[in-house]
Amino acid sequence: MKLLTNHVIVQDAWEDVDPDELSYEELLALGEVVGTESRGLSTDTIAGLPSVNYKTGGDQHGSNDSCVICRVDYEDGESLTVLSCKHLYHPECINNWLKINKVCPVCSTEVSTPGSSM
Ligand SMILES: [Zn+2]
Ligand SMILES: [Zn+2]
Repeated sequence: MKLLTNHVIVQDAWEDVDPDELSYEELLALGEVVGTESRGLSTDTIAGLPSVNYKTGGDQHGSNDSCVICRVDYEDGESLTVLSCKHLYHPECINNWLKINKVCPVCSTEVSTPGSSM
């Protein structure tokens, strides 16, 4: 049946999704889907994430110098939240993301905090 086939295609599309190609709304929607398996972090844990002051000039880790969640470039001296994988995000953006999904939106590494026991 055609209807059944279409349904399967939609399901597969979510698995092939590239976070870089999604809008903020789509990321949140995806987070809600994934969130049924992987629950978000508590606000206390999110608040305990380390932050850095962003410096332009390229001596930071990684290659992301804009926020993949809101697509806005970081500004020199801006305070950003850094995840355990060294990816940087606006605190307000990553806070909302981590409440529904505890993995990095870029590399899917599960977020851990220095305060959590090994
Ligand atoms: Zn942002
Ligand atoms: Zn990452």
